Amino acid sequence: MVDLKTQYETIKPEVDAAIQEVLNSTAYINGPQVRQFQASLESYLGVRHVIPCANGTDALQIALMALGLQPGDEVIVPAFTYVATAEVIALLQLRPVMVDVDPDTFNVTADLIEQAVTPRTKAVVPVNLFGQSCDMEPIMAVAEKYSLFVVEDNAQAIGASYTFADGTSVKAGAIGHIGCTSFYPSKNLGAYGDGGAIYTNDEALATACRSIANHGQASRRYYHDVIGCNSRLDSIQAAILNVKLARLDRFAAARQQAAAYYDRFFAGVPQLQVPARQANSTHVFHQYTLIVREGDRDRLQEFLKEKGIPSMIYYPVPLYNQEAYKSSAPYPDFSLPVTEYLCKTVISLPMHTELDDETLEYICQSVQSFFN
Ligand SMILES: *Cc1c(COP(=O)(O)O)cnc(C)c1O
Repeated sequence: MVDLKTQYETIKPEVDAAIQEVLNSTAYINGPQVRQFQASLESYLGVRHVIPCANGTDALQIALMALGLQPGDEVIVPAFTYVATAEVIALLQLRPVMVDVDPDTFNVTADLIEQAVTPRTKAVVPVNLFGQSCDMEPIMAVAEKYSLFVVEDNAQAIGASYTFADGTSVKAGAIGHIGCTSFYPSKNLGAYGDGGAIYTNDEALATACRSIANHGQASRRYYHDVIGCNSRLDSIQAAILNVKLARLDRFAAARQQAAAYYDRFFAGVPQLQVPARQANSTHVFHQYTLIVREGDRDRLQEFLKEKGIPSMIYYPVPLYNQEAYKSSAPYPDFSLPVTEYLCKTVISLPMHTELDDETLEYICQSVQSFFN
């Protein structure tokens, strides 16, 4: 699905030197590379505060902890997402309220969120799925109307841009009160291990997140004001991310080129629906995800496997049908039609920065031959 090896070869001298510098300095934790990465990411995203942390799941958890919610408070979350989004809500004894998504963009919408608001709703976690921002302007309007916090799960869309009606463009994830991202190796900005970040323009939320990520310590060392956790980005990962952040837009362009190739080819395959573009957002293609409109999606996957082509089903099971989250559903047999449909019909093809035309052609021809 991804080719991290070839990508590494293209940046090897810089990455190796950056890692060596950390080894020489022995500042493995909180070294200057972490501060440099924080500053570079703040400037790239155009946000006032970035708080690096250990992974994307921690980022979501710390963000939610910073909001001061009470057990039982409801947090709206799409049912068609990676489990981490709902997991942290449940872990904090908040109530995940699962909503459907748009059938074309796979993203949650302002209308779907508004329909799920109750007097107990305190926050919403829109997920910028597969590489494009949700339509955030109307989502922020709903949030304002009902006084909800918005925590964006931007693990899959770092580098995308969202344009408001007045023409201003903002990086995906930097629109809600807090944005969260992951530097898991296969993410668009991937480290060579785990990593994550929280970002916000709100000074108070930034201070709270920074403290929570550091055992609830505020300014004085060994004095702890709140119960926190331990979540750090280590210096080696920050050093690698510094090299890769400088190339993030070029990486996105390579993904967009591969997606355009897929799009052109699959436009001529009527059984498939190519990924729709979200109005007002660019798409950085964390995943290239097709809908198999006609034919057996699982047999297509088997067929591709026999041809040596990896593919993935993101996501095969609606959150409310996951064993661990059944009790979060409002009633037994709860089901959301679009989520159900997508779990049965989506398939993601190889998508990374090193796809050449020859490989793309082989993948496309193979997919087409399944339908002929
Ligand atoms: C990857 C991912 C996460 C979790 O990130 P980790 O770094 O693996 O903890 C959360 N949400 C979404 C949508 C993701 O894709």
